[in-house]
Amino acid sequence: LPALAVDGLGLQIGGARILQDVDFTVSAGEMIGVIGPNGAGKTTLFNLISGVLRPTAGRITLNGREITAAPIHRRASAGLGRTFQTSNLFPRLSVLENVRLAAQAKLGGSFSILRFPSDTDQATRIARGTIAEVGLTGKLATAAGDLSHGDKRKVEIAVLLATDPTVVLLDEPMAGVASGDVPSLTAIIRGMHRERGCTVLMVEHHMDVVLGLVDRVAVMHHGSLLALDTPDAVMANPTVQSAYLGETV
Ligand code: ADP
Ligand code: MG
Ligand code: MG
Repeated sequence: LPALAVDGLGLQIGGARILQDVDFTVSAGEMIGVIGPNGAGKTTLFNLISGVLRPTAGRITLNGREITAAPIHRRASAGLGRTFQTSNLFPRLSVLENVRLAAQAKLGGSFSILRFPSDTDQATRIARGTIAEVGLTGKLATAAGDLSHGDKRKVEIAVLLATDPTVVLLDEPMAGVASGDVPSLTAIIRGMHRERGCTVLMVEHHMDVVLGLVDRVAVMHHGSLLALDTPDAVMANPTVQSAYLGETV
């Protein structure tokens, strides 16, 4: 049973064809890098899979369940999680409070940020666990807005893991982070995949990171999927090479 299957997926807005006839299948436990020039449709693909946008054509199946028109919360309860290209943390809330909110939401509890959390509270325990997983136990009480870019990205991953997803979509997890944070972020993503067993789709422009992590690479171009193959095969693919000529990755 594939973790994720996309069949004939398309999005047309007004007269613009944003995405067209995208087909692919991802096996459980696979890690896919999604690359392509700016405007290729990578984030749009994630928005369709996660339910931020509805497709105008095609089907999306998650862990065997069709989710094409499902609301966002039903996709999340079916095991889907994602991060966003831009930070979506609450800047005035602490690291613990940010992650705890996600854990509470998953547990179905009330979204009480006013209630003082006890240390034995289930959501707090989950949050402390995923914060430890991303190496930020020393910053539990720090306001998210005061963190470095790299640490914000790590907290976003802790937020994601607090919902215990099986399929995760990471949209440029290294974008804008200091180069010194790239190895630790890479290790966190590798752990998410190898230790947690998550199926991962990751849009990322750091090609050395992508090639070092992924099983297969999906190449998007002008709203279409140009190729989905092993890193070596994709790099040797003449269609991919010509699509990239003169364009910034
Ligand atoms: P990428 O993430 O690969 O850089 P995007 O998916 O963000 O690309 O965008 C793909 C194309 O779709 C771009 O040309 C963008 O302007 C357009 N686009 C994305 N979302 C919308 C929308 N909601 N309405 C109109 N155009 C959109
Ligand atoms: Mg097709
Ligand atoms: Mg994008």
